Amino acid sequence: MRPNRFYNVIRIGPVEVGTFNNGRGQTRHTAACTAPGCGFSTEHRDRSAAELSARTHRCTA
Ligand SMILES: [Zn+2]
Repeated sequence: MRPNRFYNVIRIGPVEVGTFNNGRGQTRHTAACTAPGCGFSTEHRDRSAAELSARTHRCTA
């Protein structure tokens, strides 16, 4: 499940990190777990923060 508006998408384990425009002229970076039932998702102003969040995610699903 990956909206087309995401770009620079990378995968770190089960977590995908992507950059998107939030519609208000601001670039945001998200880390979202692709494991069914996990629901982990975070949003950051910094790409590095999103990637760190993805790397440190401990999936419980
Ligand atoms: Zn997870």
